[in-house]
Amino acid sequence: MSIADRRAALAPRRKQSPVNTANEDGAGPAGRPAALLAWYDRHRRTLPWRPPAGTPADPYAVWLSEIMLQQTTVRAVGPYFAKFLARWPSVADLGAASLDDVLRMWAGLGYYSRARNLHACAVAVATQHGGRFPDTEEGLRALPGVGPYTAAAIAAIAFGRRTMPVDGNIERVVSRLYAVEEELPKAKPRIKALAETLLADSRAGDSAQALMDLGATICTPKKPACALCPFMEGCTARLRGDAESFPRKAPKKTGELRRGAAFVVVRGDSVLVRTREAKGLLGGMTEVPNSEWLAGHSDAAARAQAPQLSGVTRWHRKAGVVTHVFTHFPLELVVYTAQAPSGTRAPAGMRWVKIATLADEALPNLMRKVLAHALD
Ligand code: SF4
Repeated sequence: MSIADRRAALAPRRKQSPVNTANEDGAGPAGRPAALLAWYDRHRRTLPWRPPAGTPADPYAVWLSEIMLQQTTVRAVGPYFAKFLARWPSVADLGAASLDDVLRMWAGLGYYSRARNLHACAVAVATQHGGRFPDTEEGLRALPGVGPYTAAAIAAIAFGRRTMPVDGNIERVVSRLYAVEEELPKAKPRIKALAETLLADSRAGDSAQALMDLGATICTPKKPACALCPFMEGCTARLRGDAESFPRKAPKKTGELRRGAAFVVVRGDSVLVRTREAKGLLGGMTEVPNSEWLAGHSDAAARAQAPQLSGVTRWHRKAGVVTHVFTHFPLELVVYTAQAPSGTRAPAGMRWVKIATLADEALPNLMRKVLAHALD
């Protein structure tokens, strides 16, 4: 052996670059789909809408759960999913229900346009598709309230189509695995393309659900449990030590604070309510009379919008405000209360509802907070 060869043999091994390369992790990128499914087979979550392993998923249950899970947690959705399924066991049953009943059942889950679309979609499936969901992404996307994500989720999970629905959990896993520097929402197409490389040749629905579960249980927003992750060896963000900084996000634009007043009138054991217009924010939901919600709010102008009832002369302003955050703006409501003498008639477009039966009304969370504050 020459001196040069001996030197080469004794030289310390160069440390590996922390950048992900073709075959760096145990399975390598090509083995990731299989590694992901193997992880899923051991660690899949038990969810109310998920059938046992190897059992085909019911498209109705998949669709219902996916609509309910939009901007809502698994924990919050569980009881609503069970209630809906017990009351309307099939999409045809839901399509035959009245919108009012659906809104009442949905009350408290938030983002109420989902409930209206849910009903419209059930009607469409029942009347235009013979009670069966279309089995392609394109067909599903034509249904009311079914966007690209939901169509891909139903197509993959219920019909085994080879497509990857990308939700927030999947965005997080993929943006970390590949250290995607581009900010959301611009990064969405790239993240989707990268997520699709994790699809197995078959069991597309399980690949998607595996990534969702991985994001929900291991690759969490804070303190991801990388030691338990099937992608640990080759994950670029983990190797760089900055996993928590992904996904990169453009700063959020929060709307300007709006203010207004709500008027809670009690007559004996009843309270005065009305129904909001069918279209627009909280459309078709029940509310107590309230003023416009404006950024340039004035107390006097809001107060002047109180309902006119004979016998109601004094309004009591409750201390504090009720706050609520909508997607595009935060809201603060001052709450006024008044007592109406028995026999007072409700103004046009309003009605008295027994306080004990308020739970049966389609009350959005904002109004629940207002009533709780007023009747405290
Ligand atoms: S190794 Fe860590 S950061 Fe990377 S995907 Fe897995 S849990 Fe997420």
